Amino acid sequence: MSRDFVYTCGTMQKNRLVIVGAGPIGLEAAVKAVSQGFDVTVLERGDIGDAIQRWKHVPLFTPFGMNSSTVGRSLIADQQPPALDDLLHGGQFCERYLRPLANSTALSGCVLTQHEVVAVSRRAFGKSDRIGQPGRADQPFRILVRTNDGERIFDADVLLDCSGFTSRHHFVGAGGMPCVGEQLLLTDSDYGIPNVAGAEGDRYRGRHSLVIGSGYSAATSVCLLADLAGDDAATKITWITRGNCDKPLRQVIDDPLPMRAELTDRANRLAVGDDPIVDWRPGLHVDEIEQTESGFAVKLFTNPESGEGRVERIFCDHIIANPGYRPNTDPFRELQIHRCYATDGPIKLAAHLLGESSNDCLQQTSTGCELLQNPEPNFYILGAASYGRDSRFLMQIGLQQVDQVFEHFASTNGANA
Ligand SMILES: Cc1cc2nc3c(=O)[nH]c(=O)nc-3n(C[C@H](O)[C@H](O)[C@H](O)COP(=O)(O)OP(=O)(O)OC[C@H]3O[C@@H](n4cnc5c(N)ncnc54)[C@H](O)[C@@H]3O)c2cc1C
Repeated sequence: MSRDFVYTCGTMQKNRLVIVGAGPIGLEAAVKAVSQGFDVTVLERGDIGDAIQRWKHVPLFTPFGMNSSTVGRSLIADQQPPALDDLLHGGQFCERYLRPLANSTALSGCVLTQHEVVAVSRRAFGKSDRIGQPGRADQPFRILVRTNDGERIFDADVLLDCSGFTSRHHFVGAGGMPCVGEQLLLTDSDYGIPNVAGAEGDRYRGRHSLVIGSGYSAATSVCLLADLAGDDAATKITWITRGNCDKPLRQVIDDPLPMRAELTDRANRLAVGDDPIVDWRPGLHVDEIEQTESGFAVKLFTNPESGEGRVERIFCDHIIANPGYRPNTDPFRELQIHRCYATDGPIKLAAHLLGESSNDCLQQTSTGCELLQNPEPNFYILGAASYGRDSRFLMQIGLQQVDQVFEHFASTNGANA
């Protein structure tokens, strides 16, 4: 692909484009940026697709065709990419698509793994200089990066935050803050979906696990544990959710994604059915976690508004905390970004999403470059990070966002025109 095209702003060449994160959306943006002649660097704190690798044993409920682009697939055509309707596990998606894409000739030399972005500013402008003015673009972005060999500075004219939303988990404590004991007793590994069908099976077999959360991750954890339990009555699962509904998950009507429909249906049946494996306890808030000899005692309370105001303790061997995720906004705090106070997403997109009533992520569509712009010129938040704490994001939305931003660049002959 040609890298000859360089757009200009005044007399300065402005073609250095840095992308934070080598997930599906960061890599897609890199492909598009290279094709438009930008000088592209992708900075990834871990390995390619690092966030998805953490749930590599979990099947995606969107088919490969929805998670990849025509141009991406064409770049790895000689490596037998998956079929469009293949339903891959997270790990397979990384191995069969993201990694080959990152290693493709088009992105040769662009992707730097083990490069964590820790802070970003404008070179000589502080956060409160030239408030909301396009002139901030006169100073390039200055990016502090931590590598295995120490720290380095990168400069960029255009910066795309594609760092996803799984960098930080929510807390299980009531109201979303950590409950007493949570930060002392739980580790990062307690917040994922355990690979009970693989390496972690022995840890959970014959034990009592407490699953906390009401999203698809919690549903997946419960179903995987139920599979592990089989007929073994010693393996127990208690599932607690904050909401006081008749089922833990809301079924999408006429769900076009069969895998998601199946997961929702199975998790709900395990919760409300007669099957003794899962004890579902709705309407409970976590107050405190204490260590016991064999595991944990978790103190819970019901919402006082429900009239009961009951308090109880559950004793368990393991806690599987699946309260959801939020983006890490810290590296970008010296930039002028207007975020939503409810979701942490960029305000224009967040306001648009909050106005939408559908709970179905498939019904969300990317909504145009205008909604992705914010006061900091030449800075865009794309992919899962753009949704902040809103969990309705799907990869296909991020792929559309990338198209829209690069169409804007192409039509204006530059990011900041
Ligand atoms: C269990 C589970 C199942 C899911 N199933 C589906 C599904 O079926 N279909 C679907 O569309 N979506 C699904 N999702 C959502 C999916 O994760 C996202 O759609 C997708 O990964 C978002 O891509 P992204 O590139 O925006 O972010 P990510 O995939 O999160 O990639 C972000 C990258 O940025 C890197 N990074 C973060 N911070 C920094 C930093 N400071 N410096 C450098 N690098 C950094 C991360 O290491 C990561 O590699 C699922 C999510 C989970 C948790």
